[in-house]
Order: sequence, then structure tokens, then C-alpha cells
Amino acid sequence: MKTTVQTLQGSRIGHFIDGAFVAPQDGVYAPSYDPTTAEPWYEFALGDARDVDAAVRSAKAALLNPAWRRLTQTDRGKLVRRLGELVLAHAEELAQLECRDNGKLIKEMRAQMRAIPDSYGYFAGMADKLQGDTIPVNKLDTLNFNLREPIGVVGMIIPWNSPLMMLTGTLAPCLAIGNTIVVKPSEHATASALALAELVIEAGIPAGVVNVVTGDGATTGDALTRHPGIAKYVFTGSTDTGRKIAGNAADNLVPCQMELGGKSPHVVFSDVDIERAVNGVVSGIFAAAGQTCVAGSRCFVEAPVYERFVEALVERTRRVKVGHPMAEDTDIGPLALAAQLEKVEHFVGSGVREGAKVAVGGRKPQDEALARGWYYEPTVLADARNEMSFMRHEIFGPVVGVVPFSSEDEMIALANDTEYGLASGIWTRDIDRAMRFARNVEAGTVWINTYRSAAFMSANGGTKKSGYGRRGGFEVMREFSRLKNVVIDYSGAMQDPFVIRLR
Ligand code: NAD
Repeated sequence: MKTTVQTLQGSRIGHFIDGAFVAPQDGVYAPSYDPTTAEPWYEFALGDARDVDAAVRSAKAALLNPAWRRLTQTDRGKLVRRLGELVLAHAEELAQLECRDNGKLIKEMRAQMRAIPDSYGYFAGMADKLQGDTIPVNKLDTLNFNLREPIGVVGMIIPWNSPLMMLTGTLAPCLAIGNTIVVKPSEHATASALALAELVIEAGIPAGVVNVVTGDGATTGDALTRHPGIAKYVFTGSTDTGRKIAGNAADNLVPCQMELGGKSPHVVFSDVDIERAVNGVVSGIFAAAGQTCVAGSRCFVEAPVYERFVEALVERTRRVKVGHPMAEDTDIGPLALAAQLEKVEHFVGSGVREGAKVAVGGRKPQDEALARGWYYEPTVLADARNEMSFMRHEIFGPVVGVVPFSSEDEMIALANDTEYGLASGIWTRDIDRAMRFARNVEAGTVWINTYRSAAFMSANGGTKKSGYGRRGGFEVMREFSRLKNVVIDYSGAMQDPFVIRLR
């Protein structure tokens, strides 16, 4: 793997098409910024429609290449497993690359890199378990069966907040199925997808099976979502972008899987151990500086413990260490982009104007060493109301609004009063109440007495404006394969050619 922090520093990197790095056709590159200093640190290719076309052609050709198409399922699984082994072998370099590109914590990336290689193993094991079925059709001497096949070229558009994890979630199953892929990583964190594409080749997967075309959304992303050669899209990103992509894909009648934004409710009842619930709420909103799709950004607390909970949350938040992402003792690194910092400042300001109280945070850290980066203090806005604008919009930053509630019915109404439906969490010792919440909350994931506990074995995804389709488990294998119905008549009989054979 040649793409590392050391080799990228001060250099230029092209697209990865048909097994090799290539320069963009119009020769244009853009800088990628280090979020800890706001300085550019390498340049990536800005792809246009011609680059996208080259990548899709390469993926289409790979689909027909006997070295990929004629592999047995078990052999395909072996290649996916080998890729996982290489990801493990390069775990530290990949972790550092992603930290440098988007400001993720090194301790978070090291934890991710312990799980990501296993997910290749998990999906590799499914390569020879994906099967069709035979169907009893009320006809003698007839065999009617569904073949399960690869879907074709999959277009993957991913965000900057956890590129390797997001990519792996669909890349690993798509490879296990036998699809080919064109990835467009975010213009704010391009490097790890390119490094991964190199490992794909090292693993022995034929050239063209995985292609990466880099660039922004308006040009490169738009060209990919208009290309007629794509069989299905998987998009992870904001709801607004999802709407545009689904519109473009609809023109070609191409389906999408949409993993979009959230404004997830995190509920605390008075029967809990407050310290544990506070810890859960802190992990739900401040991990990754709040730049997670599942961030529990709306916190509803039962009235009798509201004051005590806010006090404990403030005390715990004061101990959250904001610092350089590469330091092992840092809890929150910088926001990944200048625009994210502006958005956080805007919504904290609007929250205060609408009557919420800054209980802690609400500003950039005062530490001189952090002055140049896009850092922001973890922020608790108490006495919030669900109608305030910062409680309606996804901020994607370290800001939680806390609201008291008096009854279970009121709580569920508040939790569901959002256009999103991605994740949710509840802290209570009452299992009946927890299960009522699980049934009634409009969200793709429900965490009970935990938060941000993810697994590639379970089906995850959103409802409402948080998207559709499921990632993880066997479900994703179904979503990125398709059925073809085959009928064999072995009766040898002559049939009336003008009558449909329904029976
Ligand atoms: P974004 O929507 O701005 O960009 C995501 C990707 O889409 C990038 O690669 C971008 O270049 C591309 N893009 C932008 N405009 C495009 C267009 N018109 N056509 C095609 N592609 C386009 O999102 P972001 O800021 O990178 O990521 C943050 C968002 O992602 C948040 O809303 C977050 O909730 C969401 N997210 C969701 C999940 C999930 O699983 N549901 C996971 C992670 C992040």
C-alpha cells in the first residue's frame, strides 16, 4: 500500500481506475485540508464526467471478466477474506491516514480497525451461502427456480465522517456477491478509499472490480448519479444530497439505498443510575465530536431527575478532553471542515436566541494550541424545546439539547416529532417501558441502556427522512443481489401455444 500519511504529504494523487492510479482527464486537482491546522496537506483529482465514465466502463468490463465472473463463490470469498487480512496488516497506517484527513481520533480509529477486518471475514463467509430457491408451481414435470445473481455495477457515494467503515459496510458484501464497484469518496476525506483500492489489487481481486473516482459532489458525484451504467447506488450522506441523488437515479430508473442524516432522541427515565445514563448520553452526542449520523442530539429527561441529570451531564462534559486527534488521551478532536464549525456556531447562537441556556461549552476552546484548528467545546443547551431550530436541524457537531418530560406519552410524541428516523436510545430499568418505546419510536435502531453499539451483523438503516434500505447482516446481501426466475419444462409435451400456462 503506497498511499500513507508520509507519501501523501505535499503530493498529488489521481483516481484509481482499472487497477492503477490515473491522472484526471482535465488535469485539475483540489487541496485536502488538515483539520487540526486548516492547512492543505495533499491534492486529490477533481473528476469530471469523462473520469466517471472511465471508472464505470472499467467496472462493467470487470463484471464480464472471467477472472471475476467465473470464480466459484468459495474462491470469491477467499479473496474477500484476503482483503480483510491486508486491511488488518495495514490497520495502523489506515487509521493514521483517516485521522489526518478528517480529524478522527486515533483511539477511535484503532478501535474501528480492530472490527473492520473482521467484517470482510464475515461477508466472505456469506459468499457461498447466498442462494436462490425452488418454487412449487402446481405444474408437473416443471422445475421453477430463482437464481440469485450479482446486481451489476454498484455506485457508492460516501461521506467524510467515517469513510473506511461506511465503505466496508457495502464494499465487503458487494464483493462477496460478485458485483463490481465505483466509489466516490467525499472531497473532504479521500485518502483512505484510495488506499483501500490498492489493497483490493494486492488481495488478488481483478483490476476494475473496485474503482475510485475522486472529486466534489456537484461535478463528480452528479456525473456518477446520472451515468446509465450503474445498477444500484448506495449513498451515505445528508438528506438534502440524498434527495438530489435519488432524483438523478430515478431518471435512469435505478434503485438506491439511502443512509441519511438524523436527529436522534435519547431518553432518560428517573429509575436509572444517573451516572451510567450520563455516560451513555455523552457517548451518544460527543463521540467523534458529534459528527456521527446516529448522534443522540435531542435528550429527553423525566422531570423528577431533570435538574440532577443536567448537573451531572455538565460535570461530566467539563471533563471531556478536547485536543489533537493523534493524542491517546483526547476525547474530542476538531470538526472536519470549516463549514461544520460555522454550522455549529450558527445553531448554538440560534438556540440561545430562542431561549435555551448554555449549561456548558458554547464556544471554541480557549487553549492557544487549538486556536488554528476547527475545534469546538462540547456543548449542553439546557431548557431546550423540541421546536427550537437547533432541535429540528441536524447539526453534526458536539451540541445536545436537553428537554424535560412528564409522561411516557409526551416523551414518545416528542421523540417522534422530527422528520428523521435513524437511531434512538432509552435508559430505564423498566423492561416493559423499554419495549413500548422500541415498538413506538420511529427509528431504524433502538438502543436500550446503551448507545452507539454497532455491529456489521445486524441490519441498520433509517426510516422517514433518514433513508431506506438496510446495511449489515444477511439483509445487505439480498439488497445488492437480484433474483432471476428460471423455468424448465421436462415433460416433452406439446402445449397450446395460445394459452398462458398458469396451471
Ligand atoms: P454530504 O451529503 O454533503 O456528502 C456526502 C457525499 O455526497 C460526498 O461524497 C459528496 O461529495 C457527495 N455529494 C454531494 N453533493 C452531491 C450531488 N449533488 N450529487 C452526488 N453526490 C454528491 O454529506 P457529508 O457532509 O459528507 O456527511 C455528513 C452527512 O452524512 C450527515 O448528514 C450524516 O448524518 C450523514 N451520514 C449518514 C450515515 C448513515 O448511515 N445514515 C452515516 C454517516 C453519515
